[in-house]
Amino acid sequence: MAYIVEPDVVRYACMCGLLKPISRLYFCRHCLHLRCGFCVCHEVDSLFCGKCLENLPSTEAKLKKNKCSNCLECPSCHQQLSSKAATVAPKNPEDPKATPKKVIYLCCLNCRWTTRDVGIPDQEVGKSGWPEHENVHTNRLNAIMNHYKKLVLKEKQQQMDKDKKQRKYTTSLAERTGVTASILRKRLGMTELKNPLLEADDLKPAVASKEIVDSIEHLLTTPIKLNDITTIDQRLKLPDWQPTAVDKLYPVHKQLSVKRSLRCRSCEHNVSKPEYSPNSIKFKIQLFAYYHIPEIRIVTVEPLRIGKQCELLIKLINPTQHQTTITILPLEHLDAIQQEDTKVIEDPPETKEPLSFQLLQSSLTSHPRQINAKVGTDVSIPTSSIILPARDDAAEYDDTGETQNFQDDPKLVVFRKSNKAVIKLLVAPMENLELGEEVIAGFTMQHVYTSTIATTTENKEPQKFDHKMKIYLTLGTLVGSQ
Ligand SMILES: [Zn+2]
Ligand SMILES: [Zn+2]
Ligand SMILES: [Zn+2]
Ligand SMILES: [Zn+2]
Repeated sequence: MAYIVEPDVVRYACMCGLLKPISRLYFCRHCLHLRCGFCVCHEVDSLFCGKCLENLPSTEAKLKKNKCSNCLECPSCHQQLSSKAATVAPKNPEDPKATPKKVIYLCCLNCRWTTRDVGIPDQEVGKSGWPEHENVHTNRLNAIMNHYKKLVLKEKQQQMDKDKKQRKYTTSLAERTGVTASILRKRLGMTELKNPLLEADDLKPAVASKEIVDSIEHLLTTPIKLNDITTIDQRLKLPDWQPTAVDKLYPVHKQLSVKRSLRCRSCEHNVSKPEYSPNSIKFKIQLFAYYHIPEIRIVTVEPLRIGKQCELLIKLINPTQHQTTITILPLEHLDAIQQEDTKVIEDPPETKEPLSFQLLQSSLTSHPRQINAKVGTDVSIPTSSIILPARDDAAEYDDTGETQNFQDDPKLVVFRKSNKAVIKLLVAPMENLELGEEVIAGFTMQHVYTSTIATTTENKEPQKFDHKMKIYLTLGTLVGSQ
């Protein structure tokens, strides 16, 4: 919850150079890199309605304009509409046989909008479906769409003819014998197929008119009642007729939702894949960074004064099922390694991979951007590392004094419990900062990552890697020297 409502004070640098909190990052365990939403390919897995949970194939969803045919939303506040039952007195009350009729109408429980407000007739109980509000220009719009489809076909045909002319040699049977499909159909006594491209297009072009159909006089004379005018949001929810007055609002079909799977851009492995069924909120693959990367939280920081060393306490949490060792390194440490890496990439050895694969790789590898954070303080780099044991959910509730035999540097580790440790760092804001300016501290964190990819041979020790990333902490604002 703290990640959602609180400002991002601890940010991790993604491979692309963007700074993100750990909750917004993925960790690709195949190429061992942090990936943010911009470094992954988004793919639509399934389409479904969020209310009735109906699963639709993509072709059907396209036909239905990505709307659910059963669920309706309030056109005024965009919440779900509920059915309400009511009884209507018989038309002829003097008739002793006439019984009151049960009807239903739609009502919004949020803003109290009902279908009766706009004069939509009540439905009889047992009758399914509500009358569709047809657009008056449907025929014209369909004609225009057909016209443009024909244009596209025509252009394609012309392009194909052009390509055919340019080709010198042809092996087509029709060209060698001179018998085309239409001649063959004539000889066999069959009717000629109509070419949709040659059909007459009855679309009349729109003509601009000087006269305005609706008089705008009333706009200048009558006072505006804001309660009767629709908002831009309400108009755009109904793009077909975009009503300007609230009495022209009609129920809207609910927009479909999608389930997305995310793929690492460089190795094409999934970093997130939900279960297909819309009823399930579980994931098949879920490589979120906070399951693999140690989490950092700021515990406390002394008031920041120029040139004065202040204590900074941070908490390190190991979320994995394996013990890890965390080492704090200077920020420049990773830059030096990355520069060496780019040198190697610039001068690649001769590879036997197909050209298409090389092109694909080169299009996917992009140079990271400059990290947009002005570091305003020096961080004292501790000489020793911190060992964090594996996460143990049962230990969270164990208040009996536990014994952990780690040879900690008492100046560095202030406190530790199960998979967490609080460490003390010293920060000294730089001289060039101004009062009230935000102070950002940065360092490189190295941790031992134990690979969770299943190994093929049994009894093989899981592989361990040293994984490094840059961390930026926003410590607060600079205060006066006293
Ligand atoms: Zn990124
Ligand atoms: Zn639905
Ligand atoms: Zn409403
Ligand atoms: Zn990857």
